[in-house]
Amino acid sequence: MNRAFLAIGTNIGDRYQNIGDCLTLLHEHPHIDLVQASSIYETDPVGYTEQDPFLNMVIEIKTALTPVELLDSCLEIEHSLGRKRIIRWGPRVIDLDILLYNQENIETDRLFVPHPRMQERAFVLIPLLEISPDEKLPRTNQPLRNCLDKISDREGVRIWKQKNGEDVFALFAN
Ligand code: ATP
Ligand code: CA
Ligand code: CA
Repeated sequence: MNRAFLAIGTNIGDRYQNIGDCLTLLHEHPHIDLVQASSIYETDPVGYTEQDPFLNMVIEIKTALTPVELLDSCLEIEHSLGRKRIIRWGPRVIDLDILLYNQENIETDRLFVPHPRMQERAFVLIPLLEISPDEKLPRTNQPLRNCLDKISDREGVRIWKQKNGEDVFALFAN
């Protein structure tokens, strides 16, 4: 089995429902096991700032899927929840990114792992470090908490729903 971390983001419609729907589809996937969830954070948009705030979350999974199979499953789930790609970094019902896959470095046309922009994103690093404080980047072995220390927009990431055993969090083993 492989260990991976996924980032979930949403800023259209009922954001909590979107997260719940996304987690339900992941949970129902025959080759994906939900292991751990971060709390849910609310985040001011970065890059394209003329849009509503996001809810962001990071989860740990176990999977028998290869990295590319996992990417395809993520894209399928996005599609089935109504994701349309219109503006780069624009509003989205759901965004499901692969952050880490074991300690592998993957560089293909379709897939880069570790996710190439995760080190600059407080909305990814804060929830990731909540569930795995000692997580490191492959190859360099750099602790991700060192990356977070260098980021200035940490204040834009606020706890929105604390992790508890209920609702969407009930789908997780831990
Ligand atoms: P960003 O990648 O900066 O977070 P985004 O999530 O809005 O931006 P998308 O439009 O969702 O970008 O994805 C575009 C493409 O990125 C996907 O179709 C996929 O092929 C590619 N991609 C490369 N690496 C990854 C990864 N680690 N996780 C998810 N998609 C990836
Ligand atoms: Ca993304
Ligand atoms: Ca994406």
